[in-house]
Amino acid sequence: LNYQTARFLISAPTLAQCPADSGAEVAFAGRSNAGKSSAINALTRQKALARTSKTPGRTQLINHFSLGENAELRLVDLPGYGYAKVPEKVKLEWQRHLSDYLQRRASLRGLVLVMDVRHPLTEFDQTMLGWADDQEMPVHILLTKADKLKRGAAASALQQVRSRLREWEDLVSIQLFSALKGQGIDTLEQRLDAWLLD
Ligand code: GDP
Repeated sequence: LNYQTARFLISAPTLAQCPADSGAEVAFAGRSNAGKSSAINALTRQKALARTSKTPGRTQLINHFSLGENAELRLVDLPGYGYAKVPEKVKLEWQRHLSDYLQRRASLRGLVLVMDVRHPLTEFDQTMLGWADDQEMPVHILLTKADKLKRGAAASALQQVRSRLREWEDLVSIQLFSALKGQGIDTLEQRLDAWLLD
């Protein structure tokens, strides 16, 4: 698939307002500031498709992007989680939307979970993995900002995450990534192609 064809489709505040649940889509999730928007922009070779926003606490929307001619193949940018300053009630609301989406979205083929390679597997990352596991939803983990570590340190971070997730290896794949250096885009594309074109 040519990911450069990605175009903004719609921002949905809730699952009910998402586009028709047909075709196939892949969703990106991650802790705020992990590098999710930068990863989507690197994949699609667009500077500002997913906004790299520094304003926590704004309305959290599920953003859909179409690939190619029609809206039957989509990338989905899920709300970032983990803003410290957000009230507990709002956090719980986001969590409900995320778990609703994972549980009910029939066209969802896989989840890309974006983690800062220096701070992988936060508590909520693990919650997301648990929800995905409940649905037998495949997960691809991007350990991003790999350029922030020396090569050996990045490789050992990858090994550590792999070994911690060994019990889930049937459903979970993991790679190093850097939006800054364009590292790992081809591997990500292969994973998404396999999910979306299957
Ligand atoms: P999001 O909140 O998960 O969407 O994160 P952003 O994509 O907005 O990135 C958060 C911060 O990390 C920004 O300052 C980015 O410039 C930086 N960043 C994102 N990806 C990379 C990367 O691959 N390498 C480096 N060095 N910085 C990155």
